[in-house]
Amino acid sequence: MARSYVREARRRVGPKRRRIVPIIQRLLAEHPDATIALTFRNDLELLVSVMLSAQTTDVNVNRVTQRLFEKYRTPHDYLAVSPEELENDIRATGFFRQKAKSLRGTMAMLLEEFDGQVPRKMDELLRLPGVARKTANVVIAERGQAEGIVVDTHVRRLSQRLGLTRQEDPVKIERDLVKLVPREYWNDLPHLLIWHGRRVCIARAPRCEVCVLNDLCPASRVEAGTDTSHARA
Ligand code: SF4
Repeated sequence: MARSYVREARRRVGPKRRRIVPIIQRLLAEHPDATIALTFRNDLELLVSVMLSAQTTDVNVNRVTQRLFEKYRTPHDYLAVSPEELENDIRATGFFRQKAKSLRGTMAMLLEEFDGQVPRKMDELLRLPGVARKTANVVIAERGQAEGIVVDTHVRRLSQRLGLTRQEDPVKIERDLVKLVPREYWNDLPHLLIWHGRRVCIARAPRCEVCVLNDLCPASRVEAGTDTSHARA
């Protein structure tokens, strides 16, 4: 895309500070069902599900954890079996050796340092083996106390297309988003962008003509002034 065209598109939609709340409100109306797609019943299951979700789909994780969580109910249970048995039980999520190692290390630390409970603070979660910032952010956000904004592949793509960041690196994207997005929306925004990214702003073929954000988005392929209400109806 030519530089002048990008500048013109940004001018057309206006500054991101003015657009961010309308963007979120329209997405809330469009995707009222946007929540985490992982299935869990408590903090431990949430942590395990998020750890297993790296490099695979949430549907796949749910399929595996349906059985897993019947067998492994406490941190002790993950350490009571051999590493091979745990690997076998999570094999279908991919990268199962590394994931099993992280799970065992995490369970040992939960028992040694946190009374077997999943810690609540970001710096404590980040000490758990195999728990990176994205995992910690998801766990904290699901408890309703987001300390940051989860940036996955959809959040990254949509933030860029919507002109909310020019960064490529997820940590820098998160930094831009927390400066821009009112804190009350930190929990919801990632879910909204993920669902919008799956349903409408698809990576290879964004459906701009039916997108509720097309007049707020500098990357929209819909020409300014085009009536798209019939396309959304
Ligand atoms: S207008 Fe197009 S590029 Fe922009 S968010 Fe919507 S689908 Fe994505």
